[in-house]
Amino acid sequence: MNVADSQRLSSALEELGYEPCQRAEEADVVVLNTCVVRQSAEDKAYGRLSSLQPIKKQHPERVIALMGCLVGMKDNPKLKARFPYVDVFAPPSDPTPLVHFLAERDGKSLSAVELETRNSILDAARLLPPSQEGRAVTANVPIVLGCSHACTYCVIPYRRGRETSRPPEDILSEARQLAEQGVKEITLLGQIVDRYGKDRSDFPPLSGLLRRLSAIDGLERIRFLTSHPNWMTDELLKTAAELPKVMPHMEVPVQAGDDDVLLRMRRGYTSGEFRDLIHKIREYIPGVSIGTDVIVGFPGETEAQFQNTFELLADLRMDVVHLARYSPRPDTWAARNLEDDVPDEEKWRRFRLLEDQQEKIAGEIHSALLDQTLQVLFEDKHKNRWRGRSETNKLVFVESDADLRGRILPVKINRAGAWSLSGVLQEPST
Ligand code: SF4
Repeated sequence: MNVADSQRLSSALEELGYEPCQRAEEADVVVLNTCVVRQSAEDKAYGRLSSLQPIKKQHPERVIALMGCLVGMKDNPKLKARFPYVDVFAPPSDPTPLVHFLAERDGKSLSAVELETRNSILDAARLLPPSQEGRAVTANVPIVLGCSHACTYCVIPYRRGRETSRPPEDILSEARQLAEQGVKEITLLGQIVDRYGKDRSDFPPLSGLLRRLSAIDGLERIRFLTSHPNWMTDELLKTAAELPKVMPHMEVPVQAGDDDVLLRMRRGYTSGEFRDLIHKIREYIPGVSIGTDVIVGFPGETEAQFQNTFELLADLRMDVVHLARYSPRPDTWAARNLEDDVPDEEKWRRFRLLEDQQEKIAGEIHSALLDQTLQVLFEDKHKNRWRGRSETNKLVFVESDADLRGRILPVKINRAGAWSLSGVLQEPST
């Protein structure tokens, strides 16, 4: 979501005549877009922010802006007092304060970008996100902003505000525009993307939106993330299975495999229900790849409870597991009411056990793809090799002197590691 917000901000700044540059030291405007989902991310943001102070001291005319979850949705006088050299504070997904500040400072008209409301800045920033050489192949499209679920450990609802779905017409128009610009794949984003439209009686559900997006010429692939298990309806799975443009990859966070921990997290499902859902997804969409998120060391997590998570992941054999060690986040129910009582070294031990297990599982899943031919959308070159994603979101590398950017081509896999695949290009079938 932060990448998407940054791209939109770039678009808005380009609208005002600014151009990207490589180093913060050379920039007229530096925007630090921040994440505070874990303590380590927040510490990093503070460190980076402090490193910008000398620039402002030397060049007071330069603009330093702070955006994102560190700022949050409400006025934050403490933050302003702590960082007086920051010129603008902008909430997540809303570059309006910065665009206003710059437009006013530079004496520019805002008529080209209507800035009256939060939604209109999203409209304004609907312009194609800036991309390498202007040839972006993939794009992120936020469709649900904020979250109203309030898992006990999560700071996002406090920083990104309540759940708000974007109007379908806006999303469709943005997707059409992206397709016209050459974008082949879009990823629909939401903290709980499968709740799209549930906050508005006049909006379609995600399945309806997927159908309408699928009809857009030139758009070849559609993904969506992140899904909450409770909202992955049969209708959504049936639609995802039916529509060829919807890619067979799902991101469904489980967070823990123990029912007591899940209850304390207030996730709203049991590990058994999660198991059933994964089996159902695999039934509806054969060959689907599935990613999940897990937090280790949640307050009170015993060894036996951790083992339940370990076993769940061993049984379900996910394609990807995004691991995190619990850290208390300010304002959250868990931080206020539960003691962070799993020692750090124990959190690390549990993290590494799951990491090792997942490396083995992912290696085995990938080895099974050897000699298979995957359809790969190529995005860019990395260290002289073309890099792209399969339909199941596997990272695939090939060597080729041709310009493959934006092309979907068959690749026969001849090397499989835990994190990526390599192969050789095949002749596309006619
Ligand atoms: S669903 Fe839970 S973890 Fe995800 S953003 Fe909402 S509150 Fe946070």
